[in-house]
Amino acid sequence: MTDVQMGDSETFAFQAEINQLLSLIINTFYSNKEIFLRELISNSSDALDKIRFESLTDKSKLDAQPELFIRIVLDKVNKTLSIIDSGIGMTKSDLVNNLGTIARSGTKEFMEALQAGVDVSMIGQFGVGFYSSYLVAEKVIVTTKHNEDEQYVWESQAGGSFTVTRDVSGEPLGRGTKVTLYLKDDQLEYLEERKIKDLVKKHSEFISYPIYLLTEKTTEKEISDDEDEETKKEEEGHVEEVDDEKESKSKQKKVKEVSNEWTLINKQKPIWLRKPEEITKEEYASFYKSLTNDWEDHLAVKHFSVEGQLEFKAILFVPKRAPFDLFDTRKKMNNIKLYVRRVFIMDNCEELIPEYLGFVKGVVDSDDLPLNISREMLQQNKILKVIRKNLVKKCIELFYEIAENKEDYTKFYEAFSKNLKLGIHEDSQNRAKLADLLRYHSTKTSDEMTSLKDYVTRMKEGQKEIYYITGESKKAVENSPFLEQLKRKGYEVLFMVDAIDEYAVGQLKEYDGKKLVSATKEGLKLEESEEEKKNKEEKKAAFEGLCKTMKEILGDKVEKVVVSDRIVDSPCVLVTGEYGWTANMERIMKAQALRDSSMSSYMSSKKTMEINPENGIMEELRKRAEADKNDKSVKDLVLLLYETALLTSGFSLEDPNTFGRRIHRMLKLGLSIEEDEDAGGDEDTHMPVLEEIENEESKMEEVD
Ligand code: ADP
Repeated sequence: MTDVQMGDSETFAFQAEINQLLSLIINTFYSNKEIFLRELISNSSDALDKIRFESLTDKSKLDAQPELFIRIVLDKVNKTLSIIDSGIGMTKSDLVNNLGTIARSGTKEFMEALQAGVDVSMIGQFGVGFYSSYLVAEKVIVTTKHNEDEQYVWESQAGGSFTVTRDVSGEPLGRGTKVTLYLKDDQLEYLEERKIKDLVKKHSEFISYPIYLLTEKTTEKEISDDEDEETKKEEEGHVEEVDDEKESKSKQKKVKEVSNEWTLINKQKPIWLRKPEEITKEEYASFYKSLTNDWEDHLAVKHFSVEGQLEFKAILFVPKRAPFDLFDTRKKMNNIKLYVRRVFIMDNCEELIPEYLGFVKGVVDSDDLPLNISREMLQQNKILKVIRKNLVKKCIELFYEIAENKEDYTKFYEAFSKNLKLGIHEDSQNRAKLADLLRYHSTKTSDEMTSLKDYVTRMKEGQKEIYYITGESKKAVENSPFLEQLKRKGYEVLFMVDAIDEYAVGQLKEYDGKKLVSATKEGLKLEESEEEKKNKEEKKAAFEGLCKTMKEILGDKVEKVVVSDRIVDSPCVLVTGEYGWTANMERIMKAQALRDSSMSSYMSSKKTMEINPENGIMEELRKRAEADKNDKSVKDLVLLLYETALLTSGFSLEDPNTFGRRIHRMLKLGLSIEEDEDAGGDEDTHMPVLEEIENEESKMEEVD
């Protein structure tokens, strides 16, 4: 068929990223080329789902082609493989957009993943499966007919462009899509029936539409010479003379008749209707793969049915890894397919499962929902609410089952801990159950993580609260000054270093009746002996004056200055209010560009400076402040201490330059470099005191 015979042919350039993807597919060696078939069949199945769904509310949508099928035709003469479906088809603009000019978000991600060495079979997960055709084909022709448009032909040999042409002379499809692959010379194995049957069994067995392969059937038949002529005229099939028969003197001839017939090559009985005890692990894995396009087996599966007032069957899978776009806010993840009495209704039914469980994949088949249910109706639907509740319950059960195997759970937790934490934040009903699934590093664990339950078993006698610290990373928190006293007293502290921990712990508040207490906030009260109490009271009294002076110097920067009982070595820390943001939360909020800034003023401002009376710097400072409240060096030191405390307490500096200048001056002092007379202009230049204090400090260290 040439362009001349057809309507006017329009040429389009592939979008740049798609073009790159195509060259990568064509020019790189991949051993796993066979997955192209699965991808194309899966596209056909999706297209069939779409038209079937439309037909539920409008039967006439099926008029042009009432049967729903996928057909595969192998043509050894022309070296083509065609996949034909009676799905929804594509309009001209669908063709142009879907197959070449609009890149999915996954295009780039997939190329990066490929270059990072992942297997090409991942392609389907990135929403660009169609292009896998070019793993085996040098040219692809897509003929398609949508109910609302004419029949069009898309054609491309990759190489930067494709054409779209109205199909005026081709065989009418009625409705649906035919993808014809012109196989590369080294890919002719895909013309073998056996190969295709095996591949369909391997990758596409659970497609819920019949997949037919046009197969050749040879029958031997005895015919007379006259009949022979007639048979040749028959439309279907052709007749070959059998060589050795030529020698026969008889007028009767034996001929081999080759006819073509459609052979069904997949079982379509939905796996979820079968009894769980009769399904093998391999069958679940193969169903999982066909459902999700994953190339790896699932991590865990739960197959169950609910009976009684409401009946439904479901299979839920937990994958081994998180998808590349797990928390892509542009798209809502939901991987449960909804069926009503075996009929596929929709993907991505948001009402079926909460967002935090969006990574769980599977199917739900309800006996009670109406077939013609629309998305709008789903929102109000009571049956769906009950199904959802059950699914959440079963998911959590499934996670508990995974937790029984340490290795599996580690994998699971690495991939999906953020989801669990999101669940803690959002799902008040299941919060307590989800809390048991949390795992954290702590001051008492090395590589392994601990559950809250195990933490509780290790709690010291008399310990009533669970201590934790939040921060940017394990490294950033494990040596935090906030932990000094806790560590010294032997209390275990959990490291919460995911941004989402801040939100989760804010909602969790307690576990097993024990309050979760932040090591960096006000409200941390540790058990004290009588002696400690007495000592603290004395220190408090002794440092009251210094606290007051420091508050005066720091002004609005801090809410108050008090004597601390959480630090042992460091001179001071900055603590936040019990109900306000931690330093870590402030960091997270600052990173959120579009956040409402009105919150931050009252959530983030309340800092309390806690000072350590046992620290040499503080002691010296106290003496100086008592001798002369207006000593310039006292002001310098207090500001420097404040700025350093911002850093060690996990905040960022408001004015790093001034801080830098202060440190440089200290360096000069340390190196005995004369202060440049006219470099001044800074209000805080006078700092001789630092050197003395440094000396003091090193003396202290020697004593230690
Ligand atoms: P995905 O199928 O993951 O969305 P593909 O690259 O495989 O990505 O396909 C791109 C789009 O082209 C599909 O989303 C669909 O709209 C359209 N498409 C592909 N194959 C078919 C088909 N057989 N029938 C109808 N539409 C199709």
